[in-house]
Amino acid sequence: MSPRRRRPHTWRPERFLVVVAHPDDADFGPAATAARWIDAGSTGWLVCCTSGDAGGEDPDQDPLELAAIREAEQRQAATIVGYAGVTFLHQPDGALANDLALRELLVREIRTVRPDAVLATDPEVVFYRGGGVNHADHRAAGLAATDAVYPAARNPMAFPHLARSGLAAHVVRRLYLFWPNQPNAWIDVSETLDRKIAALRAHASQIRHPERLEARIRRWAAEEGRVIGTAAAEAFRVVVIEEDEEEGPTGETVEADPAAPQQPG
Ligand SMILES: [Zn+2]
Repeated sequence: MSPRRRRPHTWRPERFLVVVAHPDDADFGPAATAARWIDAGSTGWLVCCTSGDAGGEDPDQDPLELAAIREAEQRQAATIVGYAGVTFLHQPDGALANDLALRELLVREIRTVRPDAVLATDPEVVFYRGGGVNHADHRAAGLAATDAVYPAARNPMAFPHLARSGLAAHVVRRLYLFWPNQPNAWIDVSETLDRKIAALRAHASQIRHPERLEARIRRWAAEEGRVIGTAAAEAFRVVVIEEDEEEGPTGETVEADPAAPQQPG
C-alpha cells in the first residue's frame, strides 16, 4: 500500500443496485456506503442470488427452513440500511453459476430499477490478499453482475423479449466492486459504520460472537479509513463504464476542482 494519502471518493449514484450471492454479503460488504448514499438522498435496492440455504452447520437442517430464516434476517438488515427493496432470485447456495438464466434474471432487475451504479463482489479475486479463499458463489455473482451490466442490460437485442415486454435497455454507468484485492476508491463511512454493524447483527443465524464481529468490522473499517485519513472507510475497485466529465477515470475528484464531487440532487 502506498504511504501517499488518497482523497476520499465522493461520487454518489442517484440510484444503485447491490448484487450479492448470499444474505449477509451486502452487510459484510458495502452496507455503510449504501447507508451513507441513502442518507444523502440516493435510492438503493438489493438482490440476493441465493437465500443462503447451505449456510449452516447441521446436515439434517431443512434447507428451505434455513432459507426462510435467512431471507427474514436479510430483510431486517435491509430495513436498517434503508434499501427500497430486496429481491431473492432463489438460485442454489453453493452452486451458483454465471449462466444465461442468471444473467437474464439480473438484466430484469437492472432494467426494472435502472441504477446508475451496480455494486458487486470483485469477480477477479480467487485468493484474498490478506489471506483466505473467496467463495465460488461470490466470484460467480460478481461475474454475473458484471456480464449483466455490460453489455446485456444496455443492449436491446439481448433477451429481446424483455425490451418487447417493456423493460427497455438501460446503461449502468459504474461498477463498484467490493472485497477487492486492488482497490482504487475509498469511501468515508465514519457516520454510518454503526448502521453496518446493526445490520450485521440482524443475521443472527450466521453470527455466533457478535462482540468479536463488531471489533473485527471496526478494525477493518479503521484500516481502510487510514488510507484517506478518516475514522472509517469502505474500499472499492470502481470501474467507470460511462465517464463523468467532471471527474477522472476512477471517479476520484481532481485536485483543482473540489466543487465537482457530487451529482446534483
Ligand atoms: Zn457469502
